[in-house]
Amino acid sequence: MAHDPNTPPPKPANFLRGIIERDLEAGTWDGRPFGGSPGDAAHHAAGTPDPARIRTRFPPEPNGYLHVGHAKSICLNFGLARDYGGICHLRFDDTNPEKEEQEYVDAIVEAVHWLGFDWEVGTTSHLYYASDYFDFMYRAAEALVQAGLAYVDEQSADEMRARRGDFTTPGTDSPFRHRTPAENLARLREMRDGLHADGSMVLRAKIDMASPNINLRDPTLYRIKRATHHNTGDRWCIYPMYTYAHPIEDALERITHSICTLEFEDQRPFYDWLLEHLADLGLLARPLPKQYEFGRLNLSYVVTSKRKLRALVEEGIVEGWDDPRMPTIFGMRRRGYTPAAIRAMADGTGASKTNIWLDYAVLDQCLRADLEGQAPRAMAVLDPLKLVLTNWAEVYGSDDFVEPCEAPAHPQRPELGTRRFGLAREVWIERDDFVERPPKGFFRLFPPQTLADGSAVPGNKVRLKYGLVVECTGCEKDAEGRVIAVLARVVPDTRSGTPGADAVKVKGTITWVGVHDALPATVNLYDRLFTEPQPDAGGRDFREVLNPRSKVVVQGWLEPSLAGAARETRVQFERHGYFIADRVDHRGEAPVFNRITTLKDSWGA
Ligand code: ATP
Ligand code: MG
Repeated sequence: MAHDPNTPPPKPANFLRGIIERDLEAGTWDGRPFGGSPGDAAHHAAGTPDPARIRTRFPPEPNGYLHVGHAKSICLNFGLARDYGGICHLRFDDTNPEKEEQEYVDAIVEAVHWLGFDWEVGTTSHLYYASDYFDFMYRAAEALVQAGLAYVDEQSADEMRARRGDFTTPGTDSPFRHRTPAENLARLREMRDGLHADGSMVLRAKIDMASPNINLRDPTLYRIKRATHHNTGDRWCIYPMYTYAHPIEDALERITHSICTLEFEDQRPFYDWLLEHLADLGLLARPLPKQYEFGRLNLSYVVTSKRKLRALVEEGIVEGWDDPRMPTIFGMRRRGYTPAAIRAMADGTGASKTNIWLDYAVLDQCLRADLEGQAPRAMAVLDPLKLVLTNWAEVYGSDDFVEPCEAPAHPQRPELGTRRFGLAREVWIERDDFVERPPKGFFRLFPPQTLADGSAVPGNKVRLKYGLVVECTGCEKDAEGRVIAVLARVVPDTRSGTPGADAVKVKGTITWVGVHDALPATVNLYDRLFTEPQPDAGGRDFREVLNPRSKVVVQGWLEPSLAGAARETRVQFERHGYFIADRVDHRGEAPVFNRITTLKDSWGA
């Protein structure tokens, strides 16, 4: 990823950085040969010293769309490689034939790129598919069998389960455990050659059925499964288990630090057992990768399990995987979160040994910090009410006169230029900028009042931002008594930017757009999808706590500077928050904008 070397990214200390720094100091990984691509011990031995000081990897299973937790893992693995002169591989962990699809592979590539990371180094692409290692994995399985370290078990699944024991009871040996290596090898080859039915037998490691760690009680390495694989087609009818495949993938790629989430902690002894034996057998190069576990990242007010995200999509609760309320990377992108904001959120949460719950507010703060200095400003009226300036012709000579107004595109960045729009007799204002009877402290528009003691209060004066001061005189209502227009008079000689414009003091300034030049727009106001921070806590059905107002669609008016705004343009609508021109549902003349977040955290206010 490209970043300015003069402004290094913030690097909060965390235990993974500590481990890597100690390894680099001790030279743990110095001079290890690398064969230029993934491979076995001989392949790497024939290579040259690895130019990468460390190697990490992001290993998604291509069985769904990536979510915010994956974004965390991407930022962590690619970020560590970037910061320590290493290389991070993108590896598709596609060893499970049934659930994986090309659609997800493409989406993952796009999501990682969008987050700002890259796996190309010079002319080498470090994008790998675990299924390319099936040949090696099978070869390793035969080697384990021949070394007496694995056996074919023909027990039924129920028998295997019954003999596995539990936390308090040791397991008992399978009656098939004491077959000779030659018998096991013959059986394994029959499995491979399709001579046995799905599920009739498995290959297991021969470790210790009495181990206090249940993962070491002869874990399954291979199962028979007649399924077409997206990469290898029908070549295999046996497939490796994840716990067998993953350590081998890391070692073939010469990963140094294999970073995974906490639930794999109990698998680490098997990870080491397997790699040590395969290195002893001469199949894998030393030094071997080491596994480190960190806590998962969860976002409050959403769910992140792929199964639950799928349910939201399939039941039509949201409008797709990229619905702006979804915590998927594509959802966050469409919502308008920037890659920089997501990276800042990930970096800011470091890495720790406990699972963490992060509030959307943290992501929103990162977004505001990123956009405050760069997003152009614009005025938008989202709940429109017409304001009629009744003395317009008196002041300007004609009801059709348009007073040109301008405003900086960004208050601190003159180089971004100037927005221009016109003030005319009729403008749109926000409905809640007018009240007939003002509560205490209301400084926006209200008509003349007669107080309880009979005294008269004049109609209030406000400044139309970048325009001029107006004094409210009354309103018009429809038959139901609903206000349909506010009436006011222009106070002459108060136009912003002209001498003496400040002579008339006002306490309120309101935003507006001209009826004659406003742009109609559909604006989606998104909020949290659920009303509870942990929607699925305690086994609750998350459907019970959906926020009915997570998407509110309004028809608003935008200032004309937004005409033709490109898809994914991010803007600050003054007083309202940050918005993005929708990247999908965006139609030329009447654009669709999505609210990313308000200007300050208003949840629960
Ligand atoms: P899910 O359980 O949501 O389906 P997963 O762990 O099965 O996710 P993988 O495709 O296997 O999804 O994950 C790829 C990588 O992303 C793994 O290294 C995994 O540890 C990491 N990862 C997944 N979810 C999170 C999370 N919530 N926080 C941090 N890392 C995560
Ligand atoms: Mg997984």
